[in-house]
Amino acid sequence: MKKIYLDNAATTAIRQEVIDEMMKVMQSEYGNPSSTHSIGRSAKAIIETSRKTIAKQLHCNAQEIVFTATATEATNWILRSAVKDFGVKRIITSKVEHHATLYTVQALQEEFGIEVEFVNVVHDGTLDYAQFSELLSGNIKTLVSLMHVNNETGVVNDIERIGAMCHQNKALFHCDTVQSIGKTELNIHELAVDFLVASAHKFHGPKGVGFAFIRKNLVLQPMLFGGEQEKGWRAGTESVHQIAGMAKALELSYENLNEEREQISELKAYCFEKLQATFQDVTVNGSNTFYNILNVVLPFAPEKTAMILFNLDMKGIAVSRGSACQSGSIKPSHVLAEMLNDDELKKPSLRISFSHYNTKAEIDYLVSALKEI
Ligand code: PLP
Repeated sequence: MKKIYLDNAATTAIRQEVIDEMMKVMQSEYGNPSSTHSIGRSAKAIIETSRKTIAKQLHCNAQEIVFTATATEATNWILRSAVKDFGVKRIITSKVEHHATLYTVQALQEEFGIEVEFVNVVHDGTLDYAQFSELLSGNIKTLVSLMHVNNETGVVNDIERIGAMCHQNKALFHCDTVQSIGKTELNIHELAVDFLVASAHKFHGPKGVGFAFIRKNLVLQPMLFGGEQEKGWRAGTESVHQIAGMAKALELSYENLNEEREQISELKAYCFEKLQATFQDVTVNGSNTFYNILNVVLPFAPEKTAMILFNLDMKGIAVSRGSACQSGSIKPSHVLAEMLNDDELKKPSLRISFSHYNTKAEIDYLVSALKEI
């Protein structure tokens, strides 16, 4: 059966060049990067070259990049360290963040009794900046955690503005850039951001490897003890082939960015036009959305909601839904629940997320499969 992958916000296919790079490293660079002999030093050199490659793409210093296993790990570490080591007493975030952030903040609130405030999210998924500004006032050591691109709706937050507001109010700024790194230009040098997190599998790299950007002079406590790797912050032998694969994937993403962005934007517009022509009442969740994510409300009867993904899956089409069905009841996504009213939430929402590997023929197939439901 033909497989059509339209779930690129969940993860992406690894580029062949990245697989080749990782194979090369696995075959010939098996040294332990901490060993002092030449085989170890050669593996170490791969890690440091990868760090420089990543830093160059994002316009920061190589020393500011710390390799981790996932973005979830990086976010856990940064937020915990901010509370424990920087004396942060309040975290300002939003209810549409990824659970990597939300559950960590909740755990820190329970453990350390910190104050937690949420920036309001309006109907189109954008933030209420006036309320955010009010929240920021007050003389209390604060960390702001707001994402760049929402993984469910694709709504883009204005991180230049958020960073500037944090800076003015002396708040630390942690930004979840998992959905945007490798897909849009980021100049960290010009951004008032203290911490960023990224994950290689979202930009056509391997799973189980990511990185954090930690602004120079911010000294965190180790997340793992037991060795000197990653400045002693994350002990344990590095995954050399994954780090090399991630650097290659990021480099290729930026090398091909203009061309692929144009192609993907066109696909997204085509998909929406086709959906509109087929189902007149289709609407989009969110405004100012990123070019690779389309979250739509389909004018189907609520009882069909649970069937949609199943039907599409039977036809080899992978997409995500905006609502999760649990034990026969429909549990709305925590993101859409913040944006939509109860009636809107009952209708089936679908997240279609694209990559440069998709084609218009695949979109035609998706739309015709939806028509048959
Ligand atoms: N943040 C966002 C916005 C995401 O989309 C994801 C992955 O789905 C994560 C964080 C977690 O990333 P990882 O899989 O690397 O832990």
